Amino acid sequence: MHTMTMFKPFYLLVLIITISHSTSAQTPSPFNFIEDLQGCHKGNSSTKGLHGLKHYLHQFGYLNYLNQTHLDDDDFDNALESALKTYQRNYRVPQTGALDAATVAKMTSPRCGVPDIVDGINTMARKKHRRRPSKSIHVVANYAFFPNSPRWPSSQTHLTYRFVANTRIDAIAPVNRAFKKWASATHFTFSRVARNAKSDLVVGFFSKDHGDGFPFDGPGGTLAHAFAPTIGSFHYDGDENWVNGAVEGGFDLETIALHEIGHLLGLGHSEFPAAVMFSVVSSGQTKLNLHQDDIEGIKALYNV
Ligand code: ZN
Ligand code: CA
Ligand code: ZN
Repeated sequence: MHTMTMFKPFYLLVLIITISHSTSAQTPSPFNFIEDLQGCHKGNSSTKGLHGLKHYLHQFGYLNYLNQTHLDDDDFDNALESALKTYQRNYRVPQTGALDAATVAKMTSPRCGVPDIVDGINTMARKKHRRRPSKSIHVVANYAFFPNSPRWPSSQTHLTYRFVANTRIDAIAPVNRAFKKWASATHFTFSRVARNAKSDLVVGFFSKDHGDGFPFDGPGGTLAHAFAPTIGSFHYDGDENWVNGAVEGGFDLETIALHEIGHLLGLGHSEFPAAVMFSVVSSGQTKLNLHQDDIEGIKALYNV
C-alpha cells in the first residue's frame, strides 16, 4: 500500500499535464466561434450564430448587402455562398460554397487585418499580371495592389519613420531590420527619426478600438494592419504575444513588420502562401526574407 500512495501524486501530475496540453492546443482567438458553425451550407435558414460568419466575411471584404439587416440574420443565403466561394478561391481550398473543415481551418488562422477585397476589388484575384516584356510573357505573378494603385510620389524614394511614444523597446530592432530588407530589395531608402519628429511612416502598438475605424480584437484573430500610401500608419495589435524569432505560441515582430511595410508601400495581399504579402501567419512561424513575388510587385507598382 505504501508504494501505491507514493505513485498517486505522479498520476495526478500526468492528469494535469494532459489537461493543460489539450487546452493550449486551442489557442484563444476571436475567430474560434467559426469552428462551431462547421458543416453549414446554403439553405440552412437559422444556424445559431451564423451572422458571426457573415461579419467575418464582411470584415475582410467578401460580403456586402444592400440591405444591411441581412448581415445580422442567420440565413445562409446566396450572397454568403458566393462570398465563401471567393474566399475559398483566394485561399486555395475547393470552392464548395459550404463551410467545410478545410475552410474553417483557414478562417480561424491568425491573419493581417487588412481586407482581401477593398472597394469591391479582390486584391488576391486580380493578379495574372504579365511580367514586363522579357523572354517569356507566360510567367505570371501573384502580387496585388490596392484599388487605383495608390503609391508614393516618384520624387519620394526616401521615407522617414518613427515609433509612437509607448512602443515596446524589443520591437525597435526587428522593425529596423524589416525596413533594411525592403530597402535592399527596392529603390526605397528609409531612416528612423525621433518619436516627436514629423515622419512619413508611423509604427506603434494599439489595442481594441483605437480610433482609425479598424478595431483590434484581443489575443489571436487579427495581428496587425497598415494603410496604403500615403497614409503611412502601421499598427501592431498590442494584445498579442509578440516575440523575437520562432517561439511557439508567439508572433514574430520582424515577420509581421516585413508584411505591413509592404502595405505601406502599396502592396495588397498575395494569394501565394510563400510570399511575405500572404495574409496568414501562424504562431511560431517566421518569414524573414522577401519573396521574388513581393519584390516584383513593388517594381511593377513603381515601374522601376
Ligand atoms: Zn496584410
Ligand atoms: Ca488580435
Ligand atoms: Zn490601427
